[in-house]
Amino acid sequence: MDFVSGLRCRECGRGYPAEALHVCDFCFGPLEVTYDYEKIASVVTRERIEAGPRSIWRYADLLPVHDAAPVDLGAGFTPLVRADRLASELGLGELWIKDDTANPTGSFKDRVVSVALTKARQLGFKVAACASTGNLANSVAAHAARAGMDSIVLIPHDLERAKVTMTAVYGGTLVAVEGSYDDVNRLCAELTSEQPDWAFVNVNVRTYYAEGSKTLAFEVAEQLGWQAPDHVVVPIGSGSQLTKVAKGFRELWQVGLLDEEPSVRVSGAQAEGCSPVATAFAEGTDAIRPVKPNTIAKSLAIGNPADGWYALDAIRSSGGSCASVTDAEVLDGIGLLARTEGIFAETAGGVTIATLAKLAAQGAIRADERVVAMVTGHGLKTAEALTGVVGPTATIAPTLESFGDALGDQLNTIRSQRSS
Ligand SMILES: *Cc1c(COP(=O)(O)O)cnc(C)c1O
Ligand SMILES: [Zn+2]
Repeated sequence: MDFVSGLRCRECGRGYPAEALHVCDFCFGPLEVTYDYEKIASVVTRERIEAGPRSIWRYADLLPVHDAAPVDLGAGFTPLVRADRLASELGLGELWIKDDTANPTGSFKDRVVSVALTKARQLGFKVAACASTGNLANSVAAHAARAGMDSIVLIPHDLERAKVTMTAVYGGTLVAVEGSYDDVNRLCAELTSEQPDWAFVNVNVRTYYAEGSKTLAFEVAEQLGWQAPDHVVVPIGSGSQLTKVAKGFRELWQVGLLDEEPSVRVSGAQAEGCSPVATAFAEGTDAIRPVKPNTIAKSLAIGNPADGWYALDAIRSSGGSCASVTDAEVLDGIGLLARTEGIFAETAGGVTIATLAKLAAQGAIRADERVVAMVTGHGLKTAEALTGVVGPTATIAPTLESFGDALGDQLNTIRSQRSS
């Protein structure tokens, strides 16, 4: 038994049953899962969670589906790494990296897909489908294979090679569309009405999918000893992750898992080449103007973000900030995180780290705050972004002489650093 009481329109508040529904019939607003929090509070305890699996499923009481054998590759329970060396470069105090590169297919999308496909299977769907900027494609194809479901994945034709390979290898149907993600998404919305038997994880079962992102907040709080941080930095594509991270901290308080009411400032990170939310934040408007994306951060390249307004609202109401960074800053961010903490992030992670640096320099993130930055995807997925940026220090003949010629000066520096 789960603790879902139904679905509710986020705009007009009308209620719906917990089926494969995602928009309100009356106002076309998006639907959200509602829970019986009193019932959850009467059951859930820290001990019960800590005795659960080392995956997102330890938080099943706060997820929209219960299943004795969920569609699961082990998503979640990723490391929360104290990042003192990065903090000191940025002039920050207590800084943590939520390292979601460690998920089964290398991105946070495994959290949302595991939830979506478990629910889809319970609803009777046998086909998993999605429109994807890459990471969702990887994760849907992998989880569908695991569940013995067919998968149909649509992507923009110009994705990074690793993301194409990492989707195709699982043996589902992969369709490259000559258009942007927003074109692919529109096509999928049309396909959803043509193919009611397909579970489109980010269309007709999006309501359930979105809830999976709350586990980022749950894990961060548990890993901090059941305390919420003061400030989180979250990358924005559709805006769903950021919105649900904010919801996750609130829910922990509502069901009695935190001692103190959390007050988490939520800040958003975007790439300048696709920054509709950061632009609206900077202009102080409510209207999110769609853009045509042009950035190396392809997993965030959504020009017309479905949850953009809700993300903006979560940022403003929490006292957070939002900024965008150039592609050059994204590459610097990837390098900075790798060099200081030994974590290799994809371009979306570079966006988070570069935005963290920018907000710290502006004073929007302060040294007296406990800060968590969400690093959401593995660097090997977007390795081509670093072509010509990093490479061997030297290429030499296999002789000591050649080694000494190429590296002599550098070896002296390393030696003097050791003795100082
Ligand atoms: C999809 C994605 C995001 C953004 O999530 P949204 O819910 O679309 O805002 C961030 N990072 C990575 C690596 C992603 O794949
Ligand atoms: Zn409505």
